[in-house]
Amino acid sequence: MFKTERMNDKIDVDYRLKIRDNLRVIHERISSACRNAGRDESSVRLLLATKTIAPEAIRIAIEAGENLVGENKMQEFAAKYEALADLKHERHFIGHLQSNKVKDALKYVTCIETVDSMDLARKLDKYLSEANRSIDIMIQVNTSFEKSKSGLNPDETLPFLRDISTLKTLNTKGFMTIGLLDSEPEKVRPSYAKLREIRDAAAKEGLVGRQAELSMGMSGDLEIAINEGATIVRVGSAVFGTRISGNKNRE
Ligand SMILES: *Cc1c(COP(=O)(O)O)cnc(C)c1O
Repeated sequence: MFKTERMNDKIDVDYRLKIRDNLRVIHERISSACRNAGRDESSVRLLLATKTIAPEAIRIAIEAGENLVGENKMQEFAAKYEALADLKHERHFIGHLQSNKVKDALKYVTCIETVDSMDLARKLDKYLSEANRSIDIMIQVNTSFEKSKSGLNPDETLPFLRDISTLKTLNTKGFMTIGLLDSEPEKVRPSYAKLREIRDAAAKEGLVGRQAELSMGMSGDLEIAINEGATIVRVGSAVFGTRISGNKNRE
């Protein structure tokens, strides 16, 4: 069992109101970013990045109308699964998926946003074929070239897409990236522009649809991501507050 700062706290009234208020602010930011970019607000979905956050707090957000949740550790999906099982919501995996967690992924997750190797793709395909089912995935691209980050190099992305197109159990929905980590939000823009260029090039080849997902942007830079075409922004701290410990912000 992992420990988190919020996991066992009783959710007090203030925190409940705070979450609702934060959600309102985030949706205002999304809607104003869409207006500025000349985009329809319905073209961007909010994914709640809920690492270290207690199921009681996640419940408040889902009951307030949210329906998309992401975790970067499979253990957290597993631990929170029962507590949220009565609430309809999509669960996206947004962390690095280890081989020994692939089976769990198929049990707990509706979309894996972080497929970035043929090994992982084959492994998923093997289990899915046996179970006679399929799963939604996205391709994680390392658009900032930081060595610490998972994801394919931009140059490898199209060849990889061609390779996995033979695996019929994987429904490729789009692309995900974690942009350059910098205190200056504008510095992340080239990362997000890069992901859009990759999507457009892939669409041109017919490997994905023209509107394929771009999962990019977080609390601090979602406006830039939306400006560059994000269809999913992943927000944690701006909704649930700053994470105090453990499980670091970006992996
Ligand atoms: C935690 C996390 C986020 C959200 O980060 P915040 O700065 O808290 O909004 C987005 N993407 C991934 C992959 C994460 O792990």
